[in-house]
Parts: sequence; structure tokens; C-alpha cells
Amino acid sequence: MKTLLYYLLLFLVFMACNNKPTSTEKPHTTPPPKASQKKIIDLSHSYSDETIYWVTSKEFKLDTVFEGQTDKGYYYSANNFSTSEHGGTHIDAPIHFAKNGLTVDEIPLEKLIGPAIKIDIYSTAINNPDYLVSIQDIKAWEKRQGSTIPDGSIVLLQTGFSKYYPDKVKYLGTDKRGEHAVKLLHFPGLSPEAAEWLVKNRNIKSIGIDTPSIDYGQSEYFKSHVILLEENIPVFENLTNLDRLPLNGFEIIALPMKIKGGTGAPLRIVAIVTEDEK
Ligand SMILES: [Zn+2]
Repeated sequence: MKTLLYYLLLFLVFMACNNKPTSTEKPHTTPPPKASQKKIIDLSHSYSDETIYWVTSKEFKLDTVFEGQTDKGYYYSANNFSTSEHGGTHIDAPIHFAKNGLTVDEIPLEKLIGPAIKIDIYSTAINNPDYLVSIQDIKAWEKRQGSTIPDGSIVLLQTGFSKYYPDKVKYLGTDKRGEHAVKLLHFPGLSPEAAEWLVKNRNIKSIGIDTPSIDYGQSEYFKSHVILLEENIPVFENLTNLDRLPLNGFEIIALPMKIKGGTGAPLRIVAIVTEDEK
């Protein structure tokens, strides 16, 4: 009985505390209409038997381990997959072209997540598979934006070539494979001069492109790779959907598979774009 009275008292106190005068309260104001909304844009291609690889790299393979109803009555499915580090949408870790560079698991996440800008060279690159993104292209972006590339930016280069993916002839320049096919590669890339200019004059976190390589298809010495990776600037290759990004003011989250000692890895990369609501 004593316990019951205690709980009754507790209940009454609780009710009293909750019994705020509602009549004199101002009616709830509706929150102001949203001025913008965030959109997540996927910049990765899927892995499948269509995934584009370097002509000398082992391609993606998916093997079914099991698929179907088990004898215990539940459904189960699982696969094995194998892939080269460098194929499809992937990251080049600094060690790919720099002896003491970071391996993929060592890249600080700060280099892979953050504010980004896009340099759009679609109109000049799309019809020129040997196009080299120039210092002038970078300066043109800065002139148009009225500012230099902000410190700590992730830079994306839009050539438009991802629209050809996975057509190997159009995207790579050849559907042949093997060492002799390397000379047949044609797709745009970043000129070594522009790579040099970027590392010397700007402070970028990482860089990405919508072609198979940051060096153009006809490159022999992969100088842009060397210049960037020696500065521990990771490179993202085979990006897609760059046409859906603005020229600045968006965020990138690029998370590669954490392969210990890896020189590169499959990469899930997304952009977060703030769009004004109509
Ligand atoms: Zn690579």
C-alpha cells in the first residue's frame, strides 16, 4: 500500500511538471522553408565483366559460391571476386609511382574527404582523345571563379570520356589487350606541365579524372603520375557522373578498399552537392 501511494505521488508530480500552460504559449512556428537540399552523386562505375582495365591488367571476375535455397530452408547467396588493384573506378596510392610513397591503407582520410572543385574541359577534350589538360585550362577555371583553387581542395577533371564507358574502342582507344595494345591507347589526361604547376603553386589534397589514367593514353613515361604521387597526392581514375557536379562548392568522400600495402584499390567515391530548391 505504501508503495502504491509512493507511485501515485510520483505520478502526480510527473503530471504537474508536464502540465505546462499551453494556452498562453505561442503557437509552434513552422520552420522556415528549406533554401537548399543535399544530393549525393555516385562517381563510381560498377564492377562487372564490362569493367575497363588497363590493357595488361587482369580483369574483374565474379564467381558464384552458392545461390539458392539451402536444405535448412533459408535462402543464401555469396560470391568470390578477384580484381587487379588498378581497374574500374579506383585510386592510385602514392607508392604506385613513388618508391617511398604511401600505400593505400596509409593514405590519411583527410586527403580523401573534403571540399572539391571541377575543371570542365569537356568541349575541347571530348573530340580529341589525345587532349592534355593544360595550365591554361586550370587558370581559366580560376579566372571564371574569380579565385585561385582553394587550399585543401580535391580537384576533378571532366573530359566527358565517361560517356563512352564501357565501350573500349571509344573509351580506351582499343579493345585489344596485352603489351602491344599499350601503344594503341588514346584518351585525354593531365599534362605533366599542369601537374607540375599544380604541385608547385597550389595546395591540393587529391585529384581525379573521368578517363582510365591521369596521364593521357599516349603517355610513355607517366610523368603526371610521378609528379603527383611523389607529392603524396592520391589519384582517382575512371570517374563518372562528373557532368552532374557544379564547378565548385561541393564535397567529396572517396573511400578505397583498405588493402594493406596496396598500390591502388577499387574506390567508392561520391559527391555531396548542395542544390537550391526551386
Ligand atoms: Zn591506377
